[in-house]
Amino acid sequence: LQKLKESEKAEVATYFNGTGFERWNRIYSKSDEVNKVQKNIRIGHQKTVDDVLTWIKEIGEISDMSFCDAGCGVGSLCLPLVALGAGSVSASDISEAMVEETQRRAKIGGLDLNRLNFKISDLESLNGSFDTVICLDVFIHYPQKAAEEMVHHLCGLSKKSLIVSFAPYTPLLALLKTIGQFFPGPSKTTRAYILREKGIINAARACGFEVKRRKLNQAPFYFSQLIEFVKK
Ligand code: SAM
Repeated sequence: LQKLKESEKAEVATYFNGTGFERWNRIYSKSDEVNKVQKNIRIGHQKTVDDVLTWIKEIGEISDMSFCDAGCGVGSLCLPLVALGAGSVSASDISEAMVEETQRRAKIGGLDLNRLNFKISDLESLNGSFDTVICLDVFIHYPQKAAEEMVHHLCGLSKKSLIVSFAPYTPLLALLKTIGQFFPGPSKTTRAYILREKGIINAARACGFEVKRRKLNQAPFYFSQLIEFVKK
């Protein structure tokens, strides 16, 4: 199986420590300084985050559960997760700027920092064992085979469930991507990949995980397939 090229990963890290950080920090905030496209990405992304939180709320008591938020960005998921009462949350990102922003927002939000760990780390270097591993909208930087390899890795970190979201391969998205109408942000600076869902599901199945539920979230310029896998 294919690993993500180091050069490509370094490009992504540089982007998310610089212009990418400025852009995505604005998108993932309440700032008015966003254009129409960015506003739609914000709306679509919030749907994904809200779905995950709804699913986790269904569990009920989560104070004894451990979570891993892999590629946490500015903390859009891990911060509300701590606020919900999660026992422990490990938040990591390849970008130092993103991790620092997550920390800053956690402090401003008055969250219990004893239940939140921060780490600057790429997905490949993550280790440990968590009840639930979550990785939202990070696979956009991974080509199909590398994303499948990453599903294997993330399954290995999970005791109970894995929640991932990614831009799904559909003929329409493939066309939009080709003519440059989709991913107007990242595609100009880093490469953006759309993934075949079947390959992602098969990779998880090979690790003993099965699909519990799926949800496609959309807004103009945002398409994200969310899947919850549970260990059999
Ligand atoms: N998961 C967050 C969310 O949904 O709010 C952030 C999504 S943002 C579109 C993508 C994030 O993935 C960025 O913060 C970026 O730095 C991070 N990222 C990209 N490639 C990564 C890698 N190989 N390992 C860890 N993080 C990565």
